[in-house]
Amino acid sequence: MADTHAIAEQLCAVVGRLNECGWCLGTSGNFSVVLEASPLRLLITRSGLDKARLTPEDLVVVGADARPIAGQAGRPSAEALIHGTVATLTGAGSILHTHSVWNTLLGEHHLDQGGFTITGYEMLKGIHGVETHEAEVFVPVLENTQDMVRLAADVTDLLSSQPGLAGFLIAGHGLYTWGATLEEAQRHVEILEFLFEVCGRRTRFRPRGDT
Ligand SMILES: [Zn+2]
Repeated sequence: MADTHAIAEQLCAVVGRLNECGWCLGTSGNFSVVLEASPLRLLITRSGLDKARLTPEDLVVVGADARPIAGQAGRPSAEALIHGTVATLTGAGSILHTHSVWNTLLGEHHLDQGGFTITGYEMLKGIHGVETHEAEVFVPVLENTQDMVRLAADVTDLLSSQPGLAGFLIAGHGLYTWGATLEEAQRHVEILEFLFEVCGRRTRFRPRGDT
């Protein structure tokens, strides 16, 4: 296994940076790095910790079933199952999950359409594989639920039917994105959160149920 402590320090530094940006305030969000792909070994944030003050001791190694592997103590994030599902289906090296104002609003707003397309912005080129501002990047939106088994099934259906996604939103909840490395995953958070704010600022939001 790679130097877990060094990777943990890098992950804590990234989470601190995302917290400073306001994208995982309080105990919100959860974050992981794949230590081994097969069998899956995922280093992930524990449940309920303030993301402004994360240390390597606040991380736990889990397997594909989202349970801590032997010798590991502490309760992993409730959403560890989603991280494992994304890692398995995309081959990602890191999965990052943020709760920002703009991703919360946009997910809620576009749930009924199943997602929305971003195009025409230079910042799109920060997404892996995107070469031009004219690219059309689709961001799917899934319904929120506290039932992680059901959500993992929805994520499995989504990633199986739409390979090559940069990320997805959960309505009224947050963003999941990933990358081949922690650095690429962090870049995808920064690019997507920027684009969500752009899209959000030009959108006229209405309260739910208002016609
Ligand atoms: Zn969440």
